[in-house]
Amino acid sequence: NVSLVLFTADLRLHDHPPLRAALDGARQVVPLFVRDRAVDRAGFAAPNRRAFLADCLRDLDAGLRERGGRLVVRSGELVEQVCRVAAEAEADEVHLAADVSAHARRREESLRRALESEGVRLHVHDEVTTAVGPGTLAPASSDHFAVFTPYFGHWSRARLREPLGAPRTVPVPEGVGSEELPARKDLAGLSPGLAAGGEEEGRRRFASWLRSGVGTYEDGHDDLAGDVTSRLSPHLHFGTLSAVELVHRTRQVGGLGAEAFVRQLAWRDFHRQVLAARPGAASADYRTKHDRWRSERTAHAEIEAWRAGRTGYPLVDAAMRQLSHEGWMHNRGRLLTASFLAKTLYVDWRIGARHFLDLLVDGDVANNQLNWQWVAGTGTDSRPNRVLNPVTQAKRFDPDGAYVRRWLPELADLAAPAVHEPWKLTGLDRAALDYPEPVVTLSEGLARFRRARERP
Ligand code: FAD
Repeated sequence: NVSLVLFTADLRLHDHPPLRAALDGARQVVPLFVRDRAVDRAGFAAPNRRAFLADCLRDLDAGLRERGGRLVVRSGELVEQVCRVAAEAEADEVHLAADVSAHARRREESLRRALESEGVRLHVHDEVTTAVGPGTLAPASSDHFAVFTPYFGHWSRARLREPLGAPRTVPVPEGVGSEELPARKDLAGLSPGLAAGGEEEGRRRFASWLRSGVGTYEDGHDDLAGDVTSRLSPHLHFGTLSAVELVHRTRQVGGLGAEAFVRQLAWRDFHRQVLAARPGAASADYRTKHDRWRSERTAHAEIEAWRAGRTGYPLVDAAMRQLSHEGWMHNRGRLLTASFLAKTLYVDWRIGARHFLDLLVDGDVANNQLNWQWVAGTGTDSRPNRVLNPVTQAKRFDPDGAYVRRWLPELADLAAPAVHEPWKLTGLDRAALDYPEPVVTLSEGLARFRRARERP
């Protein structure tokens, strides 16, 4: 008999329970990935993520070929394509990991109906993208945790399954054709410094992180110029690495850095369980509704300056340029640029979140939207009115200005503190810089914020 395994956000061979179940139950297995048109229609197929995905598919195919198999790739409507491949392969079962997004749940239901009408069984396994899945933990009074600290207490005590190794062989039947695999070289509009994708690259990065990165994470994770975080986020997004395996292996290393890193992985699960319980939070304010945001129409020039990294606040601009150059931004930069847009410019957080999703290689509905809501004060932050000051943040997290100089060549000759406050320069020193004045003063930004938040 033949089983089909549908890969989605789990593009790996290690620790893949649906693949293992399919191999245990069938003589041959068809590993399938469908480039789902619905994802394109939803505007979610940003070039950077498509490029990273192309790497992941090629690497998955290479891993399968080493095991005697290969990957089958098809494009189109997912349900239709899965049914078609199941018929071609004469498969009697389809295995798939659950996904909690509203889109994925609807898709799963239509898939079940369509397959069952053809006499094919659908096995939906537990989701495999988190360490502790959505719905596993909940306080007595609700279906999900809305505050991180108590969630983390329970998360830390949760029993994780043992991670699985990669299969030795994957026998794939003849006669099931695949489209040509996508390649990043065929894509336009990519960030020039985009990282490479694929399970092999993810595992190499993680191994090196455990050896020589995680030890300095506790002290260094907010140091913008030091850039010592793991950069594993795109691998977690595409599932080339398993969060369960990451937690297990990091805990084995131990120490303060390991604890701090595992805590960040819990944040990822936290946001996922919020979105699973409240799918509307992808676009609607989660806890506190604010309705006085400035819009694309009322703040066009300021929003454009923010997107282009030309706000006149060097740390904000450096982080925005890192985003466009790498398709990735340091977490401290994300916090600051989001706070600047939502709280200093008082622009609707959805506009910023959209821009991030257009560029981030790790762009993820749960993590992006709920982090934006956290910063904008509509989400789960217990101090929703805190505003990050770009100058204070610069002095704390880029004290000698190295991060700003790296990303803003026009300020490369300035030392701290001038590099963080170029508006204080006078005369020829200021005139020589091709760098804008601040789009708004911080005091005006704060006044705007207070006016908008103070009723009536
Ligand atoms: P590390 O510091 O090495 O952390 C390890 C892993 O923990 C990360 O890879 C990530 O999976 C997880 N993690 C860390 N911080 C967070 C967090 N605050 N929330 C959820 N998970 C976290 N992360 C995304 O993966 N996709 C996004 O689209 C995204 N958008 C964001 C938008 C804003 C406004 C903010 C403030 C944060 C966003 N984050 C997002 C969270 C975080 O900034 C990134 O996960 C992190 O910077 C990735 O770098 P890293 O892998 O080196 O992280």
